[in-house]
Amino acid sequence: MHYKYPHPEYFKDVPRPDFHAYSNNLILYGAGVNGLIASVLLKKMGVDFICFADSDERKWGTEYMGKPVISPRELKENYPNAVILITPYQFRPVYKNLREMGYTILFDCLHLFLEFDTEDIEPLLPKERYLPGQFPVAVNNYMYKLIEFHVFGLGGYKRLVIFVTEKCTLRCKDCINFMPYYNSPKDSDYLILTISLDRLLKTGRFGYVNIEGGETFLYDHLSELVDKLVQASNVELIYPITNATILPDNRVLQSFRNEKVIVRISHYGVNSWKFDELTNLFDREGISYITALQQWSRLEAKLFCRSDEDNQKVFENCCKSDGTMSLFHGKLYRCAFAAHLENLGVFPYSPEDSVDLMVEPYDEGELSKKVDDFYKREMFIQACRYCMGRAYMGEKVPIAEQAVGELPPLPSFV
Ligand code: SF4
Repeated sequence: MHYKYPHPEYFKDVPRPDFHAYSNNLILYGAGVNGLIASVLLKKMGVDFICFADSDERKWGTEYMGKPVISPRELKENYPNAVILITPYQFRPVYKNLREMGYTILFDCLHLFLEFDTEDIEPLLPKERYLPGQFPVAVNNYMYKLIEFHVFGLGGYKRLVIFVTEKCTLRCKDCINFMPYYNSPKDSDYLILTISLDRLLKTGRFGYVNIEGGETFLYDHLSELVDKLVQASNVELIYPITNATILPDNRVLQSFRNEKVIVRISHYGVNSWKFDELTNLFDREGISYITALQQWSRLEAKLFCRSDEDNQKVFENCCKSDGTMSLFHGKLYRCAFAAHLENLGVFPYSPEDSVDLMVEPYDEGELSKKVDDFYKREMFIQACRYCMGRAYMGEKVPIAEQAVGELPPLPSFV
């Protein structure tokens, strides 16, 4: 298979580094999937590197791709003049930290990842994370960060999740959106959704829009919403997300038949009981889809006794720190954690944690500025005080384990 990034035009003015010039002084930051891909591509080019560095202490002292993995402290102490190639999805905070540590020659994987053959890479990927042909999603997600970094600036290439329903066909104990805690789950009101979305879409360019639930296929207005997003010229890709437990109706299938739409199937093993039926249907109907294998970490709400500096660190290490915002019941939130736990009344409403898109009287210029500032915000939000962060370093939990009986109650900080 051959991978080609779909929008190389964004990067035509970004200079290409000559990694050969740094062959004996190069360190790869991030011993994850992107680090793996980068190491294979560098090797193919005949470029060697010293080691990996990673902030995840579970990786320190181990080997990855035949190279040692060191801590940021060892990096600073032993290789103060190294040239660093930054590979993680959380690109910007890593870049900032390395700058603060005094590193001046920092590269990203942009030119390595624009186009490459995948056959040397696929066999090395963890089978529990990636089905054949599916890992380019990780590369695309990383490239979104680079588009902002090199071309449009923070918040200039927005990403969005629209939560369309609290209803779900599953009852997952460790749902990161806390769906089983909605006792009377409801759909998003379509009028509120369209007004808030119209206002939001006036604020710039959107790299992608995810449509999420609950279970997305339970939402009555799904086809209308998808059609609306397809027609929006400033939205590049639309990812409706499903747990593969029900099949979409004909109206929905019709709306999916568009090159901008790629259905993302969360594969929960036996709990995705319609997976085969759904993928066969999509194959027959010519509908694009990707299958995302999962890795779940527990996300709990508690009031942590942390300094503001520590809250800031949690925020910066979180995948939501410069990522995708969430639209939920007419408000734009920084993350699903803030959206759902505020909605469930776990912690109090905080004006700095969301932008009310339904505010009246509506002033396009004023609201656009608020949205832009919100996307550019680099400081932690109040919800982070209750959160351990989504850095995928927390306690691993079984995927989509179904809750039986009463759930343990959510805490209340109101
Ligand atoms: S509340 Fe949690 S998930 Fe949201 S940005 Fe803060 S650390 Fe990340």
